Amino acid sequence: MTPEQFRTYGRQVVDRIADYLATVERHPVRSTVAPGEVRAALPAHPPERGESFDAVLADLDRVILPGITHWQHPSFFGYFPANASGPAILGDLLSSGLGVQGMLWATSPACTELETLVVDWLADLLDLPPRFRTDADGAGGGVIQDSASSAAVVAVLAARQRAGEGRHRLYVSSQTHSSLEKAARITGVGVDNVRVVDVDPETLAMDPARLDESIAEDVAAGFVPTMVCATVGTTSTTAVDPVRRIGEICRRHGVWLHVDAAYAGVAAVCPELRWLNDGVAEHADSYVTNPHKWLLTNFDCSVLWLADRAPMVDALSILPEYLRNTATSSGEVVDYRDWQIPLGRRFRALKLWSVIRWYGAEGLRAHVRRGVELAGHVAGRVADDTRFALWPWHPFGLVCFRPLWPGMSTTDSNAATMTLLERLNDSGALFASHTKVEGHVLLRLAIGSPATRHEHVESAWRRIVAEYDSMRAEPR
Ligand SMILES: *Cc1c(COP(=O)(O)O)cnc(C)c1O
Repeated sequence: MTPEQFRTYGRQVVDRIADYLATVERHPVRSTVAPGEVRAALPAHPPERGESFDAVLADLDRVILPGITHWQHPSFFGYFPANASGPAILGDLLSSGLGVQGMLWATSPACTELETLVVDWLADLLDLPPRFRTDADGAGGGVIQDSASSAAVVAVLAARQRAGEGRHRLYVSSQTHSSLEKAARITGVGVDNVRVVDVDPETLAMDPARLDESIAEDVAAGFVPTMVCATVGTTSTTAVDPVRRIGEICRRHGVWLHVDAAYAGVAAVCPELRWLNDGVAEHADSYVTNPHKWLLTNFDCSVLWLADRAPMVDALSILPEYLRNTATSSGEVVDYRDWQIPLGRRFRALKLWSVIRWYGAEGLRAHVRRGVELAGHVAGRVADDTRFALWPWHPFGLVCFRPLWPGMSTTDSNAATMTLLERLNDSGALFASHTKVEGHVLLRLAIGSPATRHEHVESAWRRIVAEYDSMRAEPR
C-alpha cells in the first residue's frame, strides 16, 4: 500500500469510525449471529492474489458488523464498560502508525519515557502515593500492562521473589477476580496454595480477622504467606475490601499486599470517591487499575504500580546477548521488558496521554460523575419498586438487583431471572449481565459509557419492568 493509497483508505476508515460512533445506537446491542455464522460467510482459504481494501470494507459491512456486540452502545450495561473515546482511538492509531516496539528504552526512548511520565500523571490524578512514582530516585514505579490479569501474574512473581524460598501461599476472598487463581496456576504457586478468606455476608468484603487467622495458621504449619490480594470494587458487586486493616495484617506478617482496583480505581479522579483507596498509601506493595474499563481509553491499557520494583525486575529480568546495549548497562534507564511477561510491547502510553490531555482532570471527573449519578438514578428506581430487590451497595457505576418472583423457590426464581435477562438481551434494546450472591441471581447494570444519558437508563429500566410484567402475566 503506497502512502497515497493509505491516505485514501485511511480517510475512509476514520470516516467510518466517526459514523459508527455517531450511529451506534441504531444497532441491536447484542449481536444476533449464531455460532459459526461469521466464519461460514467468509472464504475458507486466503486469497492467492491481493485484494482491494474496498473488498475488506465491504465484508466489514456484510459480515463483521452483524457479528459485533456493540460495547460502545449507550445501552450496553453488561460486565463493566470498555470505554473507547476519540482521543484514545487516535492515540492508538498513532501508535500503530509509528509501529514502535518498546521492549527496551534503547528500542525507542520516547516509548519508555512517555510511559513513565503518563503513569505518574495518572498516579497524580488518582492521588496515589508518591512512592508509586517512576520519576523520583525512589524504588517504585508504574507500567502499562495489557490487562489486570497480567498485572496479577507480575505481582505474584514479585511477591514470591521477595518472600524467598518455601511453600508460598496466596490469600484471596470468594469475591476476588478469577485472574488471581489463574495467576497462582501460571506461576506454579498452585491453586492448592490459594486460601479463600471468608467475606462479610452483608458487604461481601474480606473479613480481616479471618485473614489474620489463616496467615497465622499457615505460618505455624510452615508455609510462607506470600501475597494477599485485596479488591477495591469487586467484579460481581463492586464490594470494597478493608484495605487499611488488611494492610496492617500484611505488614505485621511481612506479606505482599496487591490491590486489585481494576474497575473502580479510576473513580479516584474524583476527590469525593477517594475513600476507596483508604490504606493504599500506607500499605499497598502493588496496585492495578484499568483505564481500559471506565477511563475512556480503549482496550488494552491496565496500569500497575509498585512501591518497590526491585523484586519484580529480579524475578523477570533476562538479558540475552542480542539485547545488550549501553543504555541498559548504564543503569540509567527503565527497560520495561523487565516489568511484564512478554518481551515486546506496544506504545500504549500514546492513547492514555491523548485521553488525559484531551479531557483534562476536569473532563475525566465529569465522566466518572455522570456514571455514578446515572447509577444512583437507576438504584432509586429499583428501590422504589416493590417488584424488585436492590443490592444496597452501588457507590460507583454498577447497580445490582433482582426481580422478585412471589411463590417461587430460589431455584425457580433464579431460572426466571435468567429468562428475563435473556429476553432483555435478545430484544437488542439493551445489554445487561448477571452475577450470583448468596445463591441468588442478580442482574447487573454497569453504567459508564460516555454515550449513555439519562434517557438510556430510563428506557432500560422501563424495558426491564415491562418484560418482567409480561413474564408474570404468562400462564405457568
Ligand atoms: C475486570 C477485572 C479484572 C480483569 O481485568 P483484565 O484487564 O481484563 O484482565 C480483574 N479484577 C477486577 C476486580 C476486575 O473487575
